[in-house]
Amino acid sequence: SYYIAPAFLKTVALHLTKNHLDLPNLRVPLILGIHGRKGEGKTFQCDLIFERMKVHAILISGGELESPDAGDPARMIRLRYREAGEHIRKFGQMAVLMINDLDAGAGRLNAMTQYTVNTQLVSATLMNIADNPTNVQLPGSYDPKPLPRVPIIVTGNDFSTLYAPLIRDGRMSKFYWDPSREDRLHIVQGMFQSEGIPFSDIERLVDTFSDQAIDFFGALRSQIYDQQVWHFIQQVGLERVSFRLLKSKEGTPSFPPPQFSLEQLLEWGHQLKTQQQQVETRRLSEEYLG
Ligand code: ADP
Repeated sequence: SYYIAPAFLKTVALHLTKNHLDLPNLRVPLILGIHGRKGEGKTFQCDLIFERMKVHAILISGGELESPDAGDPARMIRLRYREAGEHIRKFGQMAVLMINDLDAGAGRLNAMTQYTVNTQLVSATLMNIADNPTNVQLPGSYDPKPLPRVPIIVTGNDFSTLYAPLIRDGRMSKFYWDPSREDRLHIVQGMFQSEGIPFSDIERLVDTFSDQAIDFFGALRSQIYDQQVWHFIQQVGLERVSFRLLKSKEGTPSFPPPQFSLEQLLEWGHQLKTQQQQVETRRLSEEYLG
């Protein structure tokens, strides 16, 4: 099964639990901010932990907050927060409000490189909720019954773009996620579990691509199956793939883990890296020409 890094697990489990406890005279920040490089498993590991702890997660993606047709982002946050609170009350189950890529929605430097009305609204709303977690109202209605406290987790790449008072210690505890070699070895081993790769090969793989984020290894793993899937496509016929996958009574096809050597795996990794570099080269040349 998938591996959750111990430090990550501890931070998230503590945050969720402390916010559902009623500890007298203990100030617990409502928001946990997990920051670090993209693709390192912030969201994925949170999901694994929610599943294990049976915590009901209500999600918002930073992109949704930024979108001009999302309507009022402050209202959306309040609405989802209340939804989570009502879930706790109604079902007696822990809940969390999870905002992914917050710096996309509340960061100062967005696509327009300006501090937009939306980003200010998002920061102000979150601060307000952090300061009054049991009294979160929707515009135009008032509920006098206090709401259960709902822990919030936000993820992001670079929190230095966020409004400083929002990330103050009383409101947000911060956790910088930068998996160690040890973490990476275990995570990648978990990913490749059904292929049964020896640990020494995992070590070679992780050390060869030590500058890559975790999602690189996910992409690599998916490539292992390309040959078999391509064979399947040819066998069924391009025109019949849709029917075979979605309508046929034969059920979904299965692909047993293929045989491959460490050399092959490293070769695929280098190919992936080349593709990454092509994107990078194009970007640089566009910047240069533009
Ligand atoms: P982030 O939120 O840090 O940008 P994600 O959580 O989206 O990164 O992770 C990117 C991908 O890496 C996931 O979709 C998953 O395929 C893979 N991944 C990350 N962490 C793990 C893990 N602990 N076990 C297995 N796969 C993982």
